[in-house]
Amino acid sequence: MANAVVVLNAGSSSIKFSLFVEQGKTLEPRIRGQVEGLYTGARFVAKAVDGEVKAETSWPAGVKMGHAGALDHLIEYLRSELKRDRLIGIGHRVVHGGSVYTQPVRVDSEVLKALEIFVPLAPLHQPHNLAPIRRALERVPELPQVACFDTSFHRTQPEVAQLFALPFDLWKAGVKRYGFHGLSYQFIASELPEVAPAAAMGKTIVLHLGNGASMCAMEAGRSIASTMGFTAVEGLPMGTRCGSLDPGVILYLIDQLGMTTREVEKLIYNRSGLLGVSGISSDMRTLLASDDPQAGMAIDLFVYRAGREIGSLTAALGGLDAVVFTAGIGQNSPIVRSRICHSAAWLGLEIDETANNANRTCISTPSSPVSVWVIPTDEEIIIARHTRQLIQSSKEMKK
Ligand code: AMP
Repeated sequence: MANAVVVLNAGSSSIKFSLFVEQGKTLEPRIRGQVEGLYTGARFVAKAVDGEVKAETSWPAGVKMGHAGALDHLIEYLRSELKRDRLIGIGHRVVHGGSVYTQPVRVDSEVLKALEIFVPLAPLHQPHNLAPIRRALERVPELPQVACFDTSFHRTQPEVAQLFALPFDLWKAGVKRYGFHGLSYQFIASELPEVAPAAAMGKTIVLHLGNGASMCAMEAGRSIASTMGFTAVEGLPMGTRCGSLDPGVILYLIDQLGMTTREVEKLIYNRSGLLGVSGISSDMRTLLASDDPQAGMAIDLFVYRAGREIGSLTAALGGLDAVVFTAGIGQNSPIVRSRICHSAAWLGLEIDETANNANRTCISTPSSPVSVWVIPTDEEIIIARHTRQLIQSSKEMKK
């Protein structure tokens, strides 16, 4: 009988899950899947790591299963799937831990209440992240739950990197640069000692370039600056998010164009970025395959802004030893990596195009002053490890 941990990543309309089972000291992924269409017509699918479909269910359109119904279904499925193995806990991806949660935390009803305080800071994500936690506390109160935060990794940043130039009362009220994608950066930091020991010890910039995109400056594996701030909309242009914007634009949209705050929210989160500039798609693959000049403009802007941020984060670090690319675009697009590296060539990035085109782990030339790496991220395993560790250490303490 082996211990198992399930990791949940709940969004507005779906809950993604990954099941990990202990093998000796490590946790191995066994099944990944999701329940999607939570408020339309739900569909559940579970796949083994080799892609084989293990289970599939659809509910009629109009059946609003919601987060609670999806959680119930998942628990039932996992218990039947695990048979003799034992589910020891649930790990949750939670976007916001505020300034308080610098580490993962075991969630009970008190902690859940504390996490609800951060809903206004991440209204599009936090309520959905918390919904399955609430349900599991009702439904399976004996099953330990652990919340892991996208913000925690960045709490090592110096205060000045977290500060907006606003009246200081707002800082005290929590208006600060929190940074996100922390679980991805933590995974990269955990891989670096083995993959690139010098980068693990040195000044490294990690580019998490997916549908959401951000960059993190790390010194000896600790975050010292990041491009995302108070919300996950700051920094680089993304699939549909605009990235950094002159705040005066927002005032203009409201005052002169008569937009409501909800309309502005939709604009900056859902209608901007690669989609907004290209007018074609939020998907980098689609844009790279297109010969429409607008698609080219969106890619140019993405590359330009990433290159500029490498300069900015290098200044924050006071030097640069290594650059790491990760997430959908960072892991898979040689052309985007090559263009970003060329824009930062003045900092000493020399890319080996053969290695880059082959998506090798090290893509810089042997003589490059700054080494360049491609490391696939895995936020789920980080959550699974934290969950197991916290549950086991609390058991140790009870002994
Ligand atoms: P993620 O959010 O990490 O899943 O990343 C999604 C983004 O990665 C989308 O913009 C995809 O188009 C992009 N992506 C995935 N594979 C490739 C590829 N081979 N070349 C370029 N972009 C890719």
